[in-house]
Amino acid sequence: MKAIVTGGAGFIGSALTRHLALEAGAEVVVIDKMTYAATRESLSTAEKTGRVRLIVEDICNQPVMTEIIAREKPQQIFHLAAESHVDRSISGPGAFVQTNVVGSYSMLEAARAYWATLERAAQDAFRFLHVSTDEVYGSLGADGLFTEETPYDPSSPYSASKAASDHLAKAWHRTYGLPVVVSNCSNNYGPYHFPEKLIPLVTLNALEGKPLPVYGKGDNIRDWLFVEDHARALALIASKGRPGETYNVGGRNERTNLQVVEAICDELDRLRPVAEPRRNLITFVTDRPGHDHRYAIDATKLEGELGWRAQENFDSGLRKTIAWYLDNEAWWGPLRNTVYSGQRLGLAEKV
Ligand code: NAD
Repeated sequence: MKAIVTGGAGFIGSALTRHLALEAGAEVVVIDKMTYAATRESLSTAEKTGRVRLIVEDICNQPVMTEIIAREKPQQIFHLAAESHVDRSISGPGAFVQTNVVGSYSMLEAARAYWATLERAAQDAFRFLHVSTDEVYGSLGADGLFTEETPYDPSSPYSASKAASDHLAKAWHRTYGLPVVVSNCSNNYGPYHFPEKLIPLVTLNALEGKPLPVYGKGDNIRDWLFVEDHARALALIASKGRPGETYNVGGRNERTNLQVVEAICDELDRLRPVAEPRRNLITFVTDRPGHDHRYAIDATKLEGELGWRAQENFDSGLRKTIAWYLDNEAWWGPLRNTVYSGQRLGLAEKV
């Protein structure tokens, strides 16, 4: 099997590439622009198989995407390349519209041109998996879960740009027959997560005795999914998912942000004891504008139709993640020096 993974040098894309190359024996062509969020090192174990190649390109370059896809002849395209950080989408939405909307259009058109040249059996077997987020559904109250039928109601420039690209992906199936499948997943966490995101940011700040920024009262709820469970789900959806369908992916692990931060503090206190409990470092900061209160996924369709199950619960996944960060300062150390990790959240100290 040969796959193209866009955004394969990012957090989820690299986990998917590792899964495809190391566990499924697939050949993988990664297309990635190598923005600040990408690292070559996140691909290194997969590249050792000799079955992974990185092409550094911008997905918005449609003629080049068309040429790459026609040349590489993949059976599956996993489209993950995106601008992904909500805070950055608030301070600079333009890049989000460009990559997430225009870039997705470019990938769909390039895939369609290639797909039109295939024989009927190869056309039927081909899949374009558009990877998206549960943030397109907006915010939940105290009850209920997002299903595949939940109407779209995005709040941030990030989620609006992802919602727009989901609609394009579904239209390319309905209008042109391209075998597109869409997946919408909850918050991922795990190894190689860029240090600006909540779990790595808090882990590394706590390790260094720095303030732990928590938005508002910390009562926003997210449904956490271990990235390797997500990678398995994506491979399964691309192989067995029905064209035109959406599959929600979630770990059934709802936690408030404050619970997440406290769990990280407690695990670090256990592994690396210090005089003062790390919970004392928690600093509440002004809430993010348009901050959705609760996201939670109903993954019944994926579980029932395709037989997927999350293998990690939040406690086991978090332990693995923290252990990975403790062992991999060589990966995150240089990244910590290049990005803010608290400044824009209103913390006085630049960390
Ligand atoms: P990430 O920011 O870690 O990685 C994104 C990758 O895309 C980076 O390697 C970056 O260099 C690349 N990229 C960005 N713009 C590009 C362009 N114009 N051309 C080519 N490559 C480009 O993101 P992630 O967390 O791995 O998310 C991957 C996908 O999953 C995204 O589509 C995101 O919307 C979706 N998603 C993420 C989460 C999550 O919790 N991280 C949850 C739901 C959905």
